[in-house]
Amino acid sequence: MSHERKGHHKTESKEQHRRHEKNDDDDAKQLSQQAQHILKDRRGHKESKDETSAVEKFLPGIKISGKDKVKPVSAVTKPDDQKEEPKAKDIEKKLAVKGQCEVPAVEKSEDTKDSSKPTDQVKEEVPKTAESLSKKYGVKVSVNSDGKYECSINTSGKDVALGIFEKSPEGLDSVDKALTTRLNDKKSAMEREFKLKFETAATSPEYGNRAREPRLDELDALDSALRKSRASLSSSDALRILFIDELREFEPSMQTQGAANRIVVFGPPRGAVTSEQRSDGEKQAGLLNSVEDDFLHEFGHVAENTASAADYSKFGWRRLENDNWAKVTTDDKLYIWNERKNANCESPAGWVEVDGKGNFVHPDSLEGLITNSQMMEKALVKPSSDYFYTRRDDFAEGVARYRQSPESRAKLAREAPELSKYVQEFDKKELAEKLGVGEGDKPLYKRNEKFVIVRDESVAEKPMLTKVKDALTPYFIYIPPLLYRY
Ligand SMILES: [Zn+2]
Repeated sequence: MSHERKGHHKTESKEQHRRHEKNDDDDAKQLSQQAQHILKDRRGHKESKDETSAVEKFLPGIKISGKDKVKPVSAVTKPDDQKEEPKAKDIEKKLAVKGQCEVPAVEKSEDTKDSSKPTDQVKEEVPKTAESLSKKYGVKVSVNSDGKYECSINTSGKDVALGIFEKSPEGLDSVDKALTTRLNDKKSAMEREFKLKFETAATSPEYGNRAREPRLDELDALDSALRKSRASLSSSDALRILFIDELREFEPSMQTQGAANRIVVFGPPRGAVTSEQRSDGEKQAGLLNSVEDDFLHEFGHVAENTASAADYSKFGWRRLENDNWAKVTTDDKLYIWNERKNANCESPAGWVEVDGKGNFVHPDSLEGLITNSQMMEKALVKPSSDYFYTRRDDFAEGVARYRQSPESRAKLAREAPELSKYVQEFDKKELAEKLGVGEGDKPLYKRNEKFVIVRDESVAEKPMLTKVKDALTPYFIYIPPLLYRY
């Protein structure tokens, strides 16, 4: 099943991504029409070849769903040395004629209905075994030397015992009950600490009965990402998190739905590894698209929804006269991700040149299309990964790397120094603006050596009187995201 999906997603993924980005630009216009407004997704996230092999080597158990989805069919069947993006010159450059590639309207509306209609199917009851419970909760249930069930979870790099149970069907019931309690307690604790709301099928009917419970290891991964990102959360609205139990076509592995301030995690539970649990090699490899990494990326988007917008011009994007943004090259040319279809009704993967007004330099063909790798080479400000089709993802990828671990941060500074510098500047500003300043206008919070946000005890709170004065003339004026215009 998942193999079939790879092919399906191949050609549409990046185009789909751009479509979301467009919605984002039109936020103010479209918001009222779309409750389920899709802003950003990181479908099709794929790292450089080196990092890909690092993932396979270090985290064999992790299913990198985002990556799988864009892997070209050729990459699945061809040996390693042939895994290359298609050469720009081999691509059909002639544009499709008007109407040629349109999908009949009937087909389209059926598709749309299908993905959102609630299904009546009852979820299959899985027989209760040590294995099924391990899978259900993301823990380890095994038989110990006394012949009893032993339950443990690996958090922060070491196994933590959760209890011993009789090896019997009743014992398994007890394990199930204990783990449900633990899961609910953990969710409540996180909701209290982080101004967070876990959504259910009842609160998100647009997804039918697809809402699922998070697993304990997923919660740990989310918790770890939150501790590094708490300044990005809204100071007024709760962040909502929804876990969905299957991955459908055109769905990313995770998605921030901007105005709704909701992050949706698509697909069945996948290996969740916090940075604490990683080996040195894994740490050196940087982002591995684990659940924590994906959350860190999404919190980069949340940062922009809840504070001020990033200054994209500082990391190599230019605003065009038509309000789109283009990535600038070292020879001062402007490129946008290609969305136009050629005579074969494909949108070839690559970047095309535009002028300052936003007009195509080659309006009648895809002449001059360059591949993503070529764009990485040519970019005036080097992106931190090959997932930079939009300015917002260029930013979010930098944020995720900056916050993930000291190793990942060092790699970012080495490989994308200018972006790294900008992200650091943004992060410092966000800490002060969102979590407040104390005496001497110094930020009350700082990042510790693990980059977790903690109270800086060396900074005293302002005396009460000053605080009242500050409240009347707020240091940070909240502008609802609706009013942003990019
Ligand atoms: Zn994104």
